[in-house]
Amino acid sequence: MEKPLLILDLDETLIRGQESPLSEGEPHDMLLGPYFVYFRPHARSFLAAMGEHFRLGFWSSATLSYVGPICRQLMKGQPEPLFVWGRERCTERFDHFKRETYYAKDLRHIEKNGISLARVLIVDDELRKVNRHYGNALIVRPFLGDAADDELPKLESFLRSVSQLEDLRRVEKSKWSAGL
Ligand SMILES: [Mg+2]
Repeated sequence: MEKPLLILDLDETLIRGQESPLSEGEPHDMLLGPYFVYFRPHARSFLAAMGEHFRLGFWSSATLSYVGPICRQLMKGQPEPLFVWGRERCTERFDHFKRETYYAKDLRHIEKNGISLARVLIVDDELRKVNRHYGNALIVRPFLGDAADDELPKLESFLRSVSQLEDLRRVEKSKWSAGL
């Protein structure tokens, strides 16, 4: 059986990018245009570990000029991810409650590439971006720069425990939507 696909969001899931440095004086991991970029604690070891069990794809609703360099840095020294996608692959939607436009991730783009959604998990900090694919989605607490954040090691042990299962949509994921 081929390794399942794990699709990862960037902002507030694996990193935090902001135009001013974090107040606690945390050292930033990257400087990209006007953005100070901070990796979520354990992000690189999480990705290295997950690469053994999953094929990895990155999908952000930011522009590729932001997404590309960050992914390269996060994956430095590791095999190329299956894909790095930005906003151009997202679907523009309107949130009628918040009265704002947002960019959703439609997994039909994945199916079109011949990958069964039974073998796909997508990790994001915002439910609305993946809510048409609830069975595939793991919603993490947003990372805003807390140096003591331990969401990724927890997610890692969960993902290790399910990576061999045939249909990932059937896995109990309520623990990962607790923050909704
Ligand atoms: Mg996000």
